[in-house]
Parts: sequence; C-alpha cells; structure tokens
Amino acid sequence: MDIQNQIFSEILAANNIVVTAHKGPDGDAIGSALAMFHFLNAVSKSVSVCLPDDVAHNLKCLNGTDQILLFDKNTATVKEKLSQADLIFCMDYNAPDRLGSEMAIELQHSKARKILIDHHPNPKEFCDVMYSDITCCSTAQLVYELIEKSNNKELLNKDICEAIYLGIVTDTGSFRFPSVTFRTHEIVSELIKHGLKHHIVHEQVFDTNSIDKLKLRGYAIADKLEIIAGLPVGLITLSKAELMRFNYQNGDTDGLVNTILSIAGIEVACLMMEKNDGVKISFRSKGNYFVNDLASKNFNGGGHKYAAGGIFYGSLDEASLVLKKTINEYFLI
Ligand code: 5GP
Ligand code: MN
Repeated sequence: MDIQNQIFSEILAANNIVVTAHKGPDGDAIGSALAMFHFLNAVSKSVSVCLPDDVAHNLKCLNGTDQILLFDKNTATVKEKLSQADLIFCMDYNAPDRLGSEMAIELQHSKARKILIDHHPNPKEFCDVMYSDITCCSTAQLVYELIEKSNNKELLNKDICEAIYLGIVTDTGSFRFPSVTFRTHEIVSELIKHGLKHHIVHEQVFDTNSIDKLKLRGYAIADKLEIIAGLPVGLITLSKAELMRFNYQNGDTDGLVNTILSIAGIEVACLMMEKNDGVKISFRSKGNYFVNDLASKNFNGGGHKYAAGGIFYGSLDEASLVLKKTINEYFLI
C-alpha cells in the first residue's frame, strides 16, 4: 500500500483526531493544518487543530481559523485533546521541539498514533507513520497528494482548496522557488477547478499590511542593514526596544530577510530579532551557500538549504558576533 492510502486507512480507523503544526506558524503550517481539518471534516471525523501559538493576522483568512486551539492560551484544553486523541497529525515540522518544549512533552506523552506530513530535511523518527518528502515545495502540496492518491478528489471543497493554496503560495515565495515543479502548477489548476479564488487568498496575505509594519521594515532597511565587510552577506538586527517602537505584531517582519537577499550580489541574508526567550534568527540564501548547516551548528536550529533559522541564547550583539565569526570561517574555506 502506498503511504497516502496507508494514512487514509489510519484516518478511517480513528475516532478522535488532533492536527498540530509548528510554533510561530507560517502560511504552510496553518494552510496544511486547516486543509487536513477540512478534509477530515469532509470524511465525517471528529477533529481539532491545536497550535503552540497564534498565527499572524494576514494568515487568518481561512475558514476554520476561529476554531483553532492555542497551547499558550488554552493550555489545559490542548493537553486534554492531545491525551484523548487516538490519532495526531504533525504537519510541517520535523522534530517534536518545533512545538516548543512544553507542547512537545504533551505530544510525546500522548498514546495516540502519530502521523508526520512534512517536507523539512532530516526528520526525527518521532511518528508511527512518516510521510516526509523533502523535495516537495510545501506540506500543503503533500496534503493534496494524500487527498488525490487516496481517491478522495471529489471531496475537494473551497475550504480545502484555499488552505492548500495558502500553504503553497507562501512556501514557494509566490511560485518562484526552485522547489516549484509542473506538479505544483497542475495541483493549483485542480484547486481552481474546485472553487479556489486565488486572488482573494493572495490579497489577504500580501496586501493587508499595517502602516506600523511598513515603517518598521523601512527603518530596518534604511538604518539597520549591514553588509558584512568583504562578504556577500547582509544582516539586520532588531532589538526588543526597536520592535516595540513600531508596535511589533507577529508576522510584521515576515519576508524582511528575503528583501535582504534581493540585493544584487548578496548570497546570504540574516535577520536577528531579540525575543523574550533569546534571539530568533532567520537565514535565506541563494547559489552555492546552504544555510541549514550554519543554523544547526551555531544557532540551535535547522531548516532547508535556502531557508533556515534558529534561536540564540544570548544578547543580540553576541549573536551577531557569532555570525560574523562563523560566516568568516566559512568563506575562508
Ligand atoms: P523562518 O526564517 O521563516 O522563521 O524559518 C525558515 C525555516 O527555517 C523554517 O521553515 C524552518 O525550517 C527553519 N527554522 C526556523 N526556525 C527554526 C528553529 O528554531 N529550529 C529549527 N530546527 N528550524 C527552524
Ligand atoms: Mn512548509
């Protein structure tokens, strides 16, 4: 039996399903999770979506968003859901700690069968069924493959299609990354045939900026962008005080690191933001430089070759020093 049909038979056998996705959910996390939610509803299963924390406001455009349970706000309810579930989906993450340490413990303690659907490299073996395809552009595309290959295409409805599209469009930089294939476009054409209004999703995600968000980005580029001497590396650091000055909301810096990478000649882009629990680091790269190694070796993180991230337990200045030192070592090799 192929993996998609194996997953579908697990679904048919389950009564209480929980769908999870990673902390700081991006468009693919929320899109793949809600696509599963709507698909499971379409096969009449009892299902809850439980996320570690909230999504950015521009990603709250999908039906079902208002039913999501957040671990940081509804901790007791999420704990109960995870312990009572007989099947848990792990969407768009490759290791339990991507849920945050506390929710990861609850996941691991649950007796439920666990199914991973993900496209990140180096998945940890923490699920009973691992549908991991690191060549795929997005987890949302894998949800589509699950639906089609388990002969459930007739169940595709507007809610499922919009959720899959949100995941694909955000994880492919609007269809520009090398991970996009003919299959991605074929799938989007199916989504449109089944009721997707792609421009509505696109507008909601990309054209609903606040003025504060644009001002923060303007400030970051005008005053904080640093090109590391002699290297094709651009860095922006933002302290808590700077973020507060612009009334920072989750998602306000999404894509800022890609703006650094859009500079001609820049091959590695890095954004560092001071948070309560450490410095959150985002990397993007192009060409021959793979940033997942840099993130895992120096910043407690990981990710894809061209998009990676991590967390640094220290000050913003120390984080940027570590980057300058390790990046130098790399370029000297
Ligand atoms: P972003 O820069 O958009 O937050 O993250 C880009 C990618 O880097 C994510 O899709 C994920 O694969 C990876 N990533 C970001 N933060 C972390 C982290 O703290 N740990 C790990 N393992 N990967 C991360
Ligand atoms: Mn993804």
